[in-house]
Amino acid sequence: MSNTEIQISKFLSLVLRHKPETIGIQLNPNGWADVDDLLEKSNSYGMKFDKETLIHIVETNPKKRFAFNDGLDKIRAVQGHSIDIELGYTSQKPPEILYHGTGKKSVQSILDMGLERRSRQHVHLSSDIDTAVMVGRRHGEPFVFKVHAEEMYNDKFEFFLADNGVWLTETVPVQYLEKAQHGKVSEIENDVQDKNSFAWRELCAYVEKVAEEGADEFSPLEALGDEIFSQIYTLPETISKLKKVKKIWLYGSSLKRIPPEIGEMESLEYFDPYTSYDLHWFPYEITNCKKLKDSRVSTRALFGNYKFRMRFPSLEHNPVRYTGQTVKCSVCKKEISYEETNQLWISINVGTDVLPLLVNLCSKECEDRLPKPPQGYLPYPHKGGADLKQPSYEEWAKANERIYTNKELKKFRKEAKHKLYNVIQKIWDE
Ligand SMILES: [Zn+2]
Repeated sequence: MSNTEIQISKFLSLVLRHKPETIGIQLNPNGWADVDDLLEKSNSYGMKFDKETLIHIVETNPKKRFAFNDGLDKIRAVQGHSIDIELGYTSQKPPEILYHGTGKKSVQSILDMGLERRSRQHVHLSSDIDTAVMVGRRHGEPFVFKVHAEEMYNDKFEFFLADNGVWLTETVPVQYLEKAQHGKVSEIENDVQDKNSFAWRELCAYVEKVAEEGADEFSPLEALGDEIFSQIYTLPETISKLKKVKKIWLYGSSLKRIPPEIGEMESLEYFDPYTSYDLHWFPYEITNCKKLKDSRVSTRALFGNYKFRMRFPSLEHNPVRYTGQTVKCSVCKKEISYEETNQLWISINVGTDVLPLLVNLCSKECEDRLPKPPQGYLPYPHKGGADLKQPSYEEWAKANERIYTNKELKKFRKEAKHKLYNVIQKIWDE
């Protein structure tokens, strides 16, 4: 690099990293400056160079200090960026709630890790839900998180309001996140599986094989491979033949539903559809698996989950249909038509989890025979829908507090005893 180029380079560091106001340019929240604006204002400031020189400097800079966007109309400093951007904004108190839009694909990792800035300088939040939905659309099917910003602020997290109205913060830990409910309730999808597909035929053949062999494990991912298994959205009714199967492995599946025939798998002890994020509900018939004691379900994906209370789709106008023209009453097993059945949602303890279950009912008598949901959940079977008000997480926590504190108390007493013993021992030793 020539001396002039080094000089320009130092100048660029100044305005793109430290003091954009020196020449009156603005950086966006990601640190980008408009190239034409930069050239014009640098020239009138007395630092004369053109776009060609700028490109040359960016390309030949040994430390790769600067970068262009793809269109070559924006430029930013690569290093020391986060600090400099913060300099442009002063920390301020955010509104009570902010929103973050993302693609549905990222939801689970966000629920696991919280919102992190990753390659960006900040987590971007908006004050209205529509903007968040729009941002989410850039990443495929949109998903919106509600961020309890004021609570974070009270817990000493810093917030910055960018010129474009975007709120910025370093990170949002998962406890401040909530799935936003924006009046949209998902709909029941009935035709989930292409039953002429190769994947489906392979799966059906595998079910037959497991049934014939009387095997005690059902693990389609292992048997069919990832590519085929990823095209499976439900299981065939023939799973009713899997009388010997004790364990079902459905880890990481694309499954959207499980047929009621699972209730006929009388040996089932362990059920593992973990990280099957499209599996939002189960058929009530699963409660017929009397040996089922252990399960591993991604509970955050479930309708009515205690923490996020994802809304139940309405069964009023859009009932669930299984295969066939008729359906069996989930309680007395009487065969009824879809016109006759009363479909309801109910949350019940299954295995290790509370699962949202779909019930088909032939009569009021059968409805009365349904078990009572655990505390902290809607205490009665219901039709779902946008207007349904579920108990809050706080109500759930309150309802489950006694059990929790008793357990904790025992643990604390044990620890306290142990500590006391250590203290006495120490005094004794001295
Ligand atoms: Zn019945």
